[in-house]
Amino acid sequence: GPHHRVGLLSEREVATQVYGLSGRRAERPDATFTDVFARVARRVPDAVAVRHRDRAWTYGELDGRADRLAGALLDAGLGPGETVGVAAERGFDWAVAVLAVWKAGGVYLPACADVPAGRAAAALAASGCGLVLADERNDAWARRIAAGRRVLPVEDGRRGTVGGGGAPADRRVPARPRDAAYLYLTSGSSGRPKVAVCEHAGLLNHLYAKVEDMGLAGEGAGAVVAQTASQGFDISLWQLTAPLLVGGSTRIVDAEVLRDVDAFVTEIVAGGVTVAQVVPSYLEVLLTRLEQEPRTLGALRSLSVTGEPLRQELVRRWFALFPGIPLVNAYGATEVSDDTMHEVLTRPPETGFVPVGRPLPNVHVYVLDEHLALLPLGAPGEIIFSGVCVGRGYLNDEERTRQAFVPDPFRPGARMYRTGDFGRWLPDGRLEFLGRRDEQVRLRGFRIELGEIENRLLAVPGVREAAVVIDRAASAHPRLVAFHTGQPGAAAPGAEELRAELSAEVPAYMVPASFHRLDRLPLTGNGKVDKRLLTRLAGPL
Ligand code: ADP
Repeated sequence: GPHHRVGLLSEREVATQVYGLSGRRAERPDATFTDVFARVARRVPDAVAVRHRDRAWTYGELDGRADRLAGALLDAGLGPGETVGVAAERGFDWAVAVLAVWKAGGVYLPACADVPAGRAAAALAASGCGLVLADERNDAWARRIAAGRRVLPVEDGRRGTVGGGGAPADRRVPARPRDAAYLYLTSGSSGRPKVAVCEHAGLLNHLYAKVEDMGLAGEGAGAVVAQTASQGFDISLWQLTAPLLVGGSTRIVDAEVLRDVDAFVTEIVAGGVTVAQVVPSYLEVLLTRLEQEPRTLGALRSLSVTGEPLRQELVRRWFALFPGIPLVNAYGATEVSDDTMHEVLTRPPETGFVPVGRPLPNVHVYVLDEHLALLPLGAPGEIIFSGVCVGRGYLNDEERTRQAFVPDPFRPGARMYRTGDFGRWLPDGRLEFLGRRDEQVRLRGFRIELGEIENRLLAVPGVREAAVVIDRAASAHPRLVAFHTGQPGAAAPGAEELRAELSAEVPAYMVPASFHRLDRLPLTGNGKVDKRLLTRLAGPL
């Protein structure tokens, strides 16, 4: 059976792995975001909900406009649980559109021009979406991808009651916590995109965890979250909505501002931003600039880093500049309602690498072997999530849904999501991230986690970044190739030194065949290290 090994594990080990050592339990959200938002909007109608450039909109304005637009969606024939594509620039209209879709009982699908047209059109078609909401700037784009579907202007919410059909609250069928809330395109490894479906309960559970772990709870109207991610990225959703649970505001930061880190810092300070989130590559750029020219970060009280492994070196540099501002390493995946684990750091960890932390409330994390059996504490295995975070699967894709979303042997009736990531529990109940399943190799029968080698390389003084790839092209025997960058202004360790350092830490079969220093590691569009490109580079080396 799938848990045949449980008998070999101590009760503590089983409990740890099924619940996480943190034991953080919270009530499972029995509401939707819009339920909670409606209460907040009634309580603080005049508080600022959204800021963009030099404009501000109150909860009353946001709520009113979203109500009217929801009415327009219902007039246009939107039925409960039907998908609405939203093609609007990041700004107030976008916020109105997202809220209106939910108020009308619909499912949000980002369809902004950040997503390639072919993929957006495919997602609309796959979702059975019948309606697209577009702002003026995206109208032509929306018509192009809509392929005959009705395109409704977001501006409809600006006029009075549309269609005279009465307030939407009277007509809509309210979404329930277990209903779908949004759809996201994720890239499949085969290149064929998947459309992940997430539920309201998973969304709200994640939002509450962000509120708690990023210190938004006590801030009320003072809570200001920087909305920096494009709509094509699921993290854009919590940045938009989490502050609206506590009476705070979301501050939409334009892409042009983000491209210039000085301008970004200025906006953080001038906008009174208290909470922000970046990917590690952006943190690196930010730190390099602030090390050259120190500045304060105004009201910032918490910075989250997400999307790929957070290097210890960045954490050290952060606390050297900002010892009083916690860093939150946020780990998760689109399929499980965004982040499922947080590591709240108040100083650099002593482990030599940065753990991904502990499970969020109502999230269960397992580390399992290839038969989905629990492993002893500390053994590397696949990271698997269960609980309220687990989404519905991939739209119209039973086969890939069945592969990734499997029955949870420890919680009858529940489904769990196989991340394809590898990790291991640390003795204190935190999780170490060890890389992707497709980065797992067997060399001469030994199973190797590339992330483990990278973590050890990063612990070598003078190494700033490290990426290890498998070169299968060179010969019949796959070999490991390491790339690294050095600390600015310091002598970078040479290949011999790295080989010697690693040999002292890991078995010989885990020591790469060659080491190559680069000025910087290549990045993908999302700011993640481009391993595919590195693998291609490794061949001829
Ligand atoms: P996200 O929008 O959070 O990046 P994706 O679904 O695009 O979500 O990618 C999820 C994958 O990104 C994870 O399975 C993991 O491989 C990687 N990842 C995300 N956050 C982290 C993190 N904090 N540390 C290490 N890897 C991460």
